[in-house]
Amino acid sequence: MVWAYNPIKLSPNIKDVQLKTIFPAIACALILGSCAIAPLLSSHTAPLPAVRFLLTFDDGPSPAMEDNPTAKIADTLATNAVQAGIKAVFFVQTRWPGAGGSPVGQILLHRLVAEGHVLGLHSGTARGHIDHTLMSETELATSLADGSGDIKAIQGKAPDLVRPPNWQFNDITLAAYKRASLGMLLTDTFDRDGGPEIFQVRPNTPTRILRDLVRFRERLEAKEISPVNGVVPLVMTFHDPNGFTAEHLTEYLTILPQVAREAGLKIAKRPFYTQRAELWRAARTRVGTTFGPG
Ligand SMILES: [Zn+2]
Repeated sequence: MVWAYNPIKLSPNIKDVQLKTIFPAIACALILGSCAIAPLLSSHTAPLPAVRFLLTFDDGPSPAMEDNPTAKIADTLATNAVQAGIKAVFFVQTRWPGAGGSPVGQILLHRLVAEGHVLGLHSGTARGHIDHTLMSETELATSLADGSGDIKAIQGKAPDLVRPPNWQFNDITLAAYKRASLGMLLTDTFDRDGGPEIFQVRPNTPTRILRDLVRFRERLEAKEISPVNGVVPLVMTFHDPNGFTAEHLTEYLTILPQVAREAGLKIAKRPFYTQRAELWRAARTRVGTTFGPG
């Protein structure tokens, strides 16, 4: 089934911005004359840099022998009606038998790298998707070292990005990431697609994404996030073992730029990353300026 996107009513935040801009301008025009308005307007209407979606996928690769969602996602990223050859960051579980520790998972890890995607670390223990905050310092250090070694053996280069399972981190885990030369990349938005069979969402009702992107635009206006070569990377999180996400990825690729425009963002000519090195560099620049889902 294919869903069409129904535009969502502008959020109150957008109206606030418009009102804050328009009402002082009118007041100035009445009191001081139009020449006094220009400086006021320019500070409010300075063009924002364009954004490009930096797609990330967590928890995989899927171990499924048939109808594998990770494989389907790789297929769709390569060929789709929106933009061909999209590259993404996959935060993988290298040793869990329910992901990269399976024979199919191993094949898929190699395939993702061969197709130009970037591997980041999610979990490097056979225990799988365990909160780093629940591990002893020794177990966490071992997990990070094992996972980094596993990825280096496939990617030729150790990962320098980590995303903690369930977005759980603290000062102790951050210190462990630093010792392991890993930068934590969280997200700017996601759509609660969760694990493989936990819960599903419909890409035609992206209320949460719109809210997140309005917040992102406000952060851009506040200059909290800087462009890379004139474009700002906007991090979106999915879960590749999720069959629903795999089935509907094209719809997501279609609606994301639409929702971003509705949130007041300008979209880059290429809405998604297509070059591995460019993607990797962009992801590194967002370490420290992303948040977990609120
Ligand atoms: Zn996860």
